[in-house]
Amino acid sequence: MKFVTSPFFKIVFFIIVLQLKLTAQIKREIEFPDVTGYHTLISDLHQHTVFSDGSVWPDIRVKEAIFDGLDVISLTEHLEYQPHNKDIPHLNRNRSYQLAKEYAKNKDIIIIHGAEITRDLPPGHCNALFINDANKLVQKNYINTFREAKKQGAFIFWNHPNWIGQNKQGITQLSPIHEALIKEGLLHGIEVTNENSFADRALTIANEQGLTILGNSDIHGLIDWLFDIPGGGHRPVTLVFAKEHSEMGVKDALFDGRTVAWYQNNLIGQEKYLIPLIKSSLSVDTAYYQMYGNKKTQIADVVISNHSDATYLVNNESNFSFYNTTDIVQLNPHTITTLSIKTIDPLSSFELKFEILNAIYAKNKHPKIRLEILIEP
Ligand SMILES: [Zn+2]
Ligand SMILES: [Zn+2]
Repeated sequence: MKFVTSPFFKIVFFIIVLQLKLTAQIKREIEFPDVTGYHTLISDLHQHTVFSDGSVWPDIRVKEAIFDGLDVISLTEHLEYQPHNKDIPHLNRNRSYQLAKEYAKNKDIIIIHGAEITRDLPPGHCNALFINDANKLVQKNYINTFREAKKQGAFIFWNHPNWIGQNKQGITQLSPIHEALIKEGLLHGIEVTNENSFADRALTIANEQGLTILGNSDIHGLIDWLFDIPGGGHRPVTLVFAKEHSEMGVKDALFDGRTVAWYQNNLIGQEKYLIPLIKSSLSVDTAYYQMYGNKKTQIADVVISNHSDATYLVNNESNFSFYNTTDIVQLNPHTITTLSIKTIDPLSSFELKFEILNAIYAKNKHPKIRLEILIEP
């Protein structure tokens, strides 16, 4: 076909392909705005490579993370489970971290030195982050591993506490061993979501015990396949509210519990961190009364922008009802939504109140926000 081979067609085709590629790359980056006083750092603190039971080399983990717009990752190889060790002898348990750190050189990503303590339940599997020598964590008795990690200044969290591989009911149970670890300062956080599971009891335990809330991919294969990135999916991540964009900033935030987990479009965290995150995600751009012909109606159009990746599902708890929708409203990511409010009387300002249904801070508890609306004169 002459047309297909013409130089003009080739240039147009090239531009279309380039644009599609750029759009695909931009779309997959996970984006949440900063909140007052803190940088919102996007982290995935539980991942594997061939240096334990994963299927990829550490550089792939770094590249995937950069594609996903992550700020922080940790490769947390199993200390006690080394199924590839005949093919890949793994005597130096720091090697995965060292390789990742090398690949990340001059790239805008923080690599945290971590390892997965892999024991029967209890205590089960726990990640130790910010360690300086994983080799020293290889110990016979689990308590010595935890104590060595603490000696190295580690932040330690309980992984997939609902995992059916260790607990057939899939219900997180806090054992006396966990209570003792918490008491001794050897357990600081808990995954409320891991891979494709949500641990509701873990959220209750986090709230009761003052543990930091985390959500991570625990990826072994490829992020794109497991979380259907081409289909619009995302990996579970922990949003970390850090005073500074650095490893120390992340460590300080984790020990202080400043996190929200993002999982399958749900935000899971303490109410005091969910509310600022939602408030910085949503802004009222403008509000004005609709005109019908040259007459001003008493239907106020409120234009709301969503600056985050979350599709917010909100329930109207205001005194007003809407002219253009029901009480359940979907605020799509990185887009604007116009709500038409029946204010009955002409007002210069009013308040909208929403319950955020895709955010939770405890069983059946959703945060509520208020938006101040100022009508343009
Ligand atoms: Zn595990
Ligand atoms: Zn794992």
